[in-house]
Amino acid sequence: MKKLFLLAMMVVSIQLIAQRTVIHCGNLIDGKSNDVQTQMTVIVEKNVISKIEKGFTKPGSSDKLVDLSKKTVMPGLIDLHVHLEGETNKDQALQRFTLNKADVAFRSTVHARKTLMAGFTTVRDLGGSGVNTSLRNAINQGLVVGPRIFSVGKSIGTTGGHADPTNGYREDLMGDPGPKEGVINSPEEARQAVRQRYKDGSDLIKITATGGVLSLAKDGSGPQFTLDELKAIVETAKDYGMHTAAHAHGTEGMKRAVLAGITTIEHGTMMTEEVMDLMKEKGTYYVPTISAGKFVAEKAKEPGYYHPLVTPKALAIGPQIQETFGKAFKRGVKIAFGTDAGVFPHGENGKEFGYMVEAGMPAMEAIKSATVVAAEVIGMSDKIGTLEAGKLADIVATDENPLRNIKTMEKVSFVMKEGVVYLQ
Ligand SMILES: [Zn+2]
Repeated sequence: MKKLFLLAMMVVSIQLIAQRTVIHCGNLIDGKSNDVQTQMTVIVEKNVISKIEKGFTKPGSSDKLVDLSKKTVMPGLIDLHVHLEGETNKDQALQRFTLNKADVAFRSTVHARKTLMAGFTTVRDLGGSGVNTSLRNAINQGLVVGPRIFSVGKSIGTTGGHADPTNGYREDLMGDPGPKEGVINSPEEARQAVRQRYKDGSDLIKITATGGVLSLAKDGSGPQFTLDELKAIVETAKDYGMHTAAHAHGTEGMKRAVLAGITTIEHGTMMTEEVMDLMKEKGTYYVPTISAGKFVAEKAKEPGYYHPLVTPKALAIGPQIQETFGKAFKRGVKIAFGTDAGVFPHGENGKEFGYMVEAGMPAMEAIKSATVVAAEVIGMSDKIGTLEAGKLADIVATDENPLRNIKTMEKVSFVMKEGVVYLQ
């Protein structure tokens, strides 16, 4: 019996040894410290970081060495605002009628791969048809290559609101979508919509608290929910362990969402100092998505790129976000990284870092917003967001030190997710 036990132990330990990956890191940003450490070794066993050591540890005979001694290594990046189902193009409005769900699904796998290869090992998908949730499952099952996804499934809006899926349709196609499709018009329907999303397998709830730029509707910033409806959504989501994200451009809708206890404000374009202070008081995070603002403002200058209802909104709202972000950061609002990728091409998520730094955020803070802070938002602080023993081995690296050149974040050159190397 004892012999058998020893034999079993030997088999286990041989397996463990065989699975070690020894990573030599020239620079190391661990997500906790504000310092860049030099000449460090991260040891990965299976899907977890087992040790971090000073100096370059000599690998054992069965270890796999990954030489990043010329690179800067950091935790896998987290984008809290993407839409993996689609990608910007001038036929996007028409594609709502021409693409089948299967077409959307195939495309989403391409977007997912690009996102992971850009160094984003975790994302929140903030709105789609439900394909986003199936994509999450396929990635979790190892069938598709992509980031770890926290999916909202379908967003929730009000009739004619930013997330009403039939906005801009011909009268006979418009119908009267309800809570299942994400359209609510009372606190009761709000609760029903949240419970439906729980049933659909969503991880969190997304609402469109104000008008938006890309919906086929005139108003891009007015409030679109009553405070009662918002409270019903946030309270019901909490019952199911889900956090909440609110798309918001205008001040009034944003304020109501913050008062209702929403977890994150997305875009936040017309955020006033009053709203910033309210967010600080309530602990609300701001997910700026500067990249999307810049992209739509630029594309709106191209004749015919957007629908005529969209163009003036893109020109008015797009350019404001970066400045608002700068003010909110200086005032002490908690900033969590998010881009709205899909509104611009997937894989370009890293540009956001440059925009944040340009607006006055130190590079280290910007990196933390996409690692340790973002992990906090999704309730994953015990597993991701920092490089520490016991955390999942989500590790990326850049050629240059981002504290010297933030643009290096646009071209990540090493990606490991849960111990598996995807890019080297
Ligand atoms: Zn979005």
